Amino acid sequence: MKCVNCLCEAQQIPSELDGVEINCPHCGHFGVSASVLRQRLDRAFDVEKTRVFLHNWRDINPGRLPVINSENVIWAPSA
Ligand SMILES: [Zn+2]
Repeated sequence: MKCVNCLCEAQQIPSELDGVEINCPHCGHFGVSASVLRQRLDRAFDVEKTRVFLHNWRDINPGRLPVINSENVIWAPSA
């Protein structure tokens, strides 16, 4: 599937998560909740800020999967 953040070709990983788990060559391994996937139908993530968020999250929580949910999602500014 395409990466939910940067839209390049990424691998979807079978997951227990209510949502999807993705391994993207540019954004790394992360999850996205089902509610964010629904909201994303008419919005896009802020690609760079989301990458920074994922990077920082991994620094703070080594070994745990970052999951983007409705509390921490960073939307691109709407036009
Ligand atoms: Zn990506």
